[in-house]
Order: sequence, then C-alpha cells, then structure tokens
Amino acid sequence: MYRSLSSSTFVSVIAMQLSDWNKLWKLCIHARLKILLWKVAWNILPTRSRVSGVIGAPGSEGSLCPLCCEAIESLHHLLFACQFSRVIWWESPWPIDCQPFLDSPLAVWEKIILQPQLFLNIPLPEVHAFQLFASLAIDLVWFNRNLAAHGKPFADPLQLARRVQKLRLEHCAAWQPLSKAVASSVWIPLPASFCKVNVAVAIRDSFCAVACVGRTSSGLVVFACSKLFPAQTPLIGEALAAAFGIQQAAIRGVQNLKLEGDSLVVVNAFSQDPSLCPWSLDSIVANSQLIVSSFLSWEFLFSSCSANSLAHDLARWAASSLFEGSVPHSLELFGSYPWVDMGLIPLDSAILKLF
Ligand SMILES: [Zn+2]
Repeated sequence: MYRSLSSSTFVSVIAMQLSDWNKLWKLCIHARLKILLWKVAWNILPTRSRVSGVIGAPGSEGSLCPLCCEAIESLHHLLFACQFSRVIWWESPWPIDCQPFLDSPLAVWEKIILQPQLFLNIPLPEVHAFQLFASLAIDLVWFNRNLAAHGKPFADPLQLARRVQKLRLEHCAAWQPLSKAVASSVWIPLPASFCKVNVAVAIRDSFCAVACVGRTSSGLVVFACSKLFPAQTPLIGEALAAAFGIQQAAIRGVQNLKLEGDSLVVVNAFSQDPSLCPWSLDSIVANSQLIVSSFLSWEFLFSSCSANSLAHDLARWAASSLFEGSVPHSLELFGSYPWVDMGLIPLDSAILKLF
C-alpha cells in the first residue's frame, strides 16, 4: 500500500515556519545534508529554470531537465515529478506515490521530511530512518543531475534507488545509539562452552590485513590469525574480517561462536534478513552462511572499537609486517594476555576441560 499526501492536514500548511527551521537544524543527519535541505527549502539550488530565469531566457530548450529531458528543470520537477526521483520514492521502504502532490509547493516536501509521522503516517520509530532516506534521496538526485548536466555518465533510476537504500542503511548504522549495541570497553565473560572471536581489518593503499582473536570465556587467548587481501573498501574489509573469523573458528572445531566486530553495518549484514544486506557484501555473507550453519549456535555482536582493540592491534601489526597465518604467542602485543594452546582440536570440549 503506497503512501500519498491526500491528508487534509496538508492543505493548511505551506510556508516554512520558524519552528520548522528549528526542526530542520535539529535533524539527526549529516550537516551537509541539513544545508542541502535548507537550500531546497529556499529553492536556491541552481536548476536550469532558475538559472535561465536569472539570465532572462526562461523556457528555452536549454532549460530541460538533464536527467529525463522531458520537462523544464525546476527543483520541484527534479525532486517530485522527474521519473528518476519518482522511482526512488516509490522504491523506498515506505513506497510513496508522488502523483497526488505534483502541484504542491516545494515547502510541502520539507514539511513531510520534518514530520513524516503526520503527513505520511510513518511510525514514530521509523521517522529518523525516513528522514535519512529522504535527505539522501535528494542529495543523490542532485548529484546525479549535476553529472548529467556536465555530460558525464549518470545512474539510471533503479540504480539510484538502490544507492539511496544502501547509503540509508550505512547512515542508519552510523547514527545507531551505542546504548542499543554492545558497547562495553572491557572483555565480557561468556558461558564456558562459548568461544568469542573478535575480528578487525587494517586498510592500506594497496592491500588490507584482516585479523581475528579467539578467546575462552575467561579471556584466555586460544588462537590469533591474520590474512592479507588485495585492496578493499573499509566495508568489504570489515566483512572479509568477519568471514575470516568465522572460517578460523570452524577450522578449530568451535561449536558455539560469539563473533564481535566494530562495524554495525557488517554485523547487521551477517545477522539480519539477507534482503537488507548491502549488495557489495552479498557473496561474502552468503559464503559465510554455509559455514555458520555448521555451528550449534552463533551470533555476531557489535563491539566498540576500544573493546575490539586487540583484534585491531593485530590487524595493524599484520599489515606492517605482511604476516599471514597463526600468530606466534610470543608476539609483544599479546604480552598481557594469557594463552592456551588449543591447536586444531575441537574447541568446545577442550574449553570445557578448563573449568
Ligand atoms: Zn526530469
């Protein structure tokens, strides 16, 4: 069921009020996006119709929308009426049909972004996600429009819609309150039968190093390994680190795994509905799912960087020394951490013998 703007509450509000401006500046979005919304509210982005209006040649062929080339490019057209933006709104998690408000003033859309719970009946817990989506959609449409206007290759509507979704998930993760995540700064003891594996990546210009550290519930280090990969984005690097940790736990016979990493996007990608997984991580997550299905139990928890510091230190060391494989116990950075040499025997039974 799509959402439309047929609500009667809408008719009475058009102009931005002082309280609206205050709401805009208090939005939990990146400052750059707030400034973009502010420019939209004032209709001061240099669209072709605006520029040609200023130079006194309105309605000329040069004023056509550079994306669809089917209508005069106003900001209103670009954000609501253009087939590019209409696909993005329609493909959003809250399918929005722009048709009913094609004749509405631009300020209407600002009202919707500021109070989507009133105008689109967006549930309150989803308001922030919607505001992120809407501001990112406008940002990407404007960016794509600039590419087109300068004769550069630009994305098609569906590609744009997917990019907005991907960015929304990443921004949502960045704004996720730490209180909702496991954000302790110390080692958390686990039930005796679990193995906890922390993972991290060190990104370098020409390669990346992933590392994992496995520990018992009492904090004894049972294995630590690293591996080098070709250059990757930080997101893919974090996902490779998670996959590496899962693989190393399986090799050592771990049956109950608690994985920890400090990228919430990657934690969610491995833990949630596959349809929410960023496309760039699809194959990494899918391959790992085959392995985790062999565990009796497993979960992937978000950890603050400070709680994940040992894995991070190990990844940095592996990157600087170009080291791959099982890390020697004597490595200086493990100085204050007690080791238990478990080899490759099934960890669960071995760990239980320690208690
Ligand atoms: Zn257009």
